[in-house]
Formats: sequence, structure tokens, C-alpha cells
Amino acid sequence: MVPRHEGNRRGDVVDGRKVYDYRASVDYLAGKAQLSDVQLLTTVLSRRDGQHSGYFVRRWAIPDAHDAPSTAIWTNSVGDLSSIAVDLGATDALDPHVENVFLTRAKALAFLSTRAEWDESEHPRDDHGRFEGDGGGDVSAPESGGGGEDAAPKETTGTDPKFAAMSLDELTSYLSNNGNIWLENDTGTKTGRTQEVAANIVTTIDRLRQSPIMAASLQGYQNPTKISLVKGAYVRAEGGRRTFAHYRSTEKRLTIATGLRLSNVAAKPGIGKELIGKDLPTVTAHELGHQAMGKIIIEAKKNGWSHESITQLFQSKSKAVWEKAVSKYSATDPHELFAEAFAAWTHPGYQQGKALPPELVSLFEKAGVKKGG
Ligand SMILES: [Zn+2]
Repeated sequence: MVPRHEGNRRGDVVDGRKVYDYRASVDYLAGKAQLSDVQLLTTVLSRRDGQHSGYFVRRWAIPDAHDAPSTAIWTNSVGDLSSIAVDLGATDALDPHVENVFLTRAKALAFLSTRAEWDESEHPRDDHGRFEGDGGGDVSAPESGGGGEDAAPKETTGTDPKFAAMSLDELTSYLSNNGNIWLENDTGTKTGRTQEVAANIVTTIDRLRQSPIMAASLQGYQNPTKISLVKGAYVRAEGGRRTFAHYRSTEKRLTIATGLRLSNVAAKPGIGKELIGKDLPTVTAHELGHQAMGKIIIEAKKNGWSHESITQLFQSKSKAVWEKAVSKYSATDPHELFAEAFAAWTHPGYQQGKALPPELVSLFEKAGVKKGG
């Protein structure tokens, strides 16, 4: 018998459909090897069509770096895990009562999201008072396609032991002595995870700085680049969107939430997937790509890059092309195309994976950005 999540809700109705909440306990899931690399779970509603009427099942889902549910997971009655890609608008819907929980080995720290307040009185309970248990009807029918991870087990957290051994103060001085970078600790603590996150970020910066253009970009401006480490699991970006990092070019400030554990770097970049990577080194590279974009494009054009601008390149192909050739997120706008391509190109497993399109390869080559291993 799989223990149930104590926060399972009864009586929710969404789009006129009842919501059945069968989520397994977070402590139980935290012990599952398949989720050992997962830091946070969110919820998603899976649309199901029953014999008499449609309904939703609330499931745990692994969020993407931008906090949207990306992979739904659930357990069958004997506790096996299954997973399937979330398809919002088609088979899945956003949960108006979304719950986000940390998956930690020791304990599960749950918190309710502040999104979308819900008035229980407006959503009457199921008038039969009936909520099926585990394995209720077609809810637990296998949906195949689970566990589609293709990354080889050759993964690391991407922290250089040299930096892992430094204190936060030492990391801060290292960055200001080796680049015009201010590391700002706004978490209110100087120990534990803050140091761990900072050491990981410094490792990525050190690796990227091996390209002269990146070293120039990180120290060549009068104003320093600022890296703010903030408390909690999220950073609020434009429009209230929650992410765990963002870059504001107006302030030259990269803000990173330190509340999440570091996840391992995949063996190769996620070209053609939702995102190039969700781990901290890849996200840091993405954000530093935003920082360096201007200098890289100017340098590439000086050396004969054949495009007018990143916007012109972005507009020269359809979004569907960029989604496949770089990542789904890269099709958002020219800036994200650049940042995602940069994260892929500099990824330690770039040469093990699918290559970027030639226009982007030549952009980085002409600007002298070193390719990842
Ligand atoms: Zn971005």
C-alpha cells in the first residue's frame, strides 16, 4: 500500500470537472531512486475521460526551470513509478491549487504556493462524497512512455573541489580579483547551501572565462557584473513568473535562488528538448550568455559572421525549427535563442550530443567562444 500525501485535497472542481487527488506521500517518493535527481515537485491536472463524465486526476509533476510542470509522475498500487511528458492544453491542465514541495532525502518540506487563491465554498464537494482509493478505475491504467531519461550516468554536480573547499568570503574575493564580478549574499547566512551554490557558480564562471571573449565580457565593463544569491526556492522574474535564476541586463545582475539542491549535469545538452539543461551550471551558463551576448555578436560580426543580428537570425526560421534545433524555450525570442544556444555550446557534454545549427556554430566560433568538452 502506497502512503498517501497528507495534503491531498477533496472536492475541487476545475472547468466543471471533478478533481481526484491520489498523490503519494512526499516522504515515500523521496526514497525512490528514479527521483534522486529531482529537487522539487509541483502538481498538474491530468484530464481523463470516464464512462459518464470527464474528470481530472491531480498528480505530482517535475517542474522545468521556469516552474511549469514538465513530467507527470505517479505510482501504481504496488508503488512502481511511471512518468509521462506533460502536455498542457491537450491532456493536462494547470492546477489552480498548485502545490510545490521539496523532495529531500531526510524530510519533505512542503509549502503551498501563493498562486491563485481558491474559494472552497464556490466549489461544492462531490455530491456522492465518493473519492476512489488507489487503483480507482481507469485512473491507474498504465500510460506507458515512462521514465524516458536518456542521459548516461556520467554526471557530476559540476563543482570544482578547489572551489568547494573555499569559504563564501574566499569565493567572493576570488571573483572580484579574477573578474569584475561582485558576489552578493542576500540569503542572510554564510554557511551550507549558500556556499555550495556559490562554489558551483564560481566553477562555471571559471570554465567560461577560459574564452577570452568571456573574460572580456565579465571584466571589461566599467560596472561590475553582480551575482546575487537569494534565499528561497524561487526568484520572481517579469510578470511574477517564478524561476530559479534570472539576468537583468539593465543592472548587469544575475540573481540565483539558493533554496534548491544542486542537480547533476546531464552527460550532454538537451538539444531539441524543453530546455538545454535544468542543473545549476547549465542555468548559470544560460544567464551568463545573456550577459555576454552583445560582445559576442559584435566580435563575431567583426570576423565575418554572416548575419545582421541575432534577431535577424531568429526571424529567418520558424519557431518550430528553433524548438527542434536548439530547445523549446529557445523559440521564445532572440535573446533566449542566444542564451540557450550558448548554454548548449559551452556545455561540458556538447561534443557528445547533437550539434547546433551551423549559423550558431559559426557565431560562437567567430567570436572565439570555446566549445564544451
Ligand atoms: Zn534566459
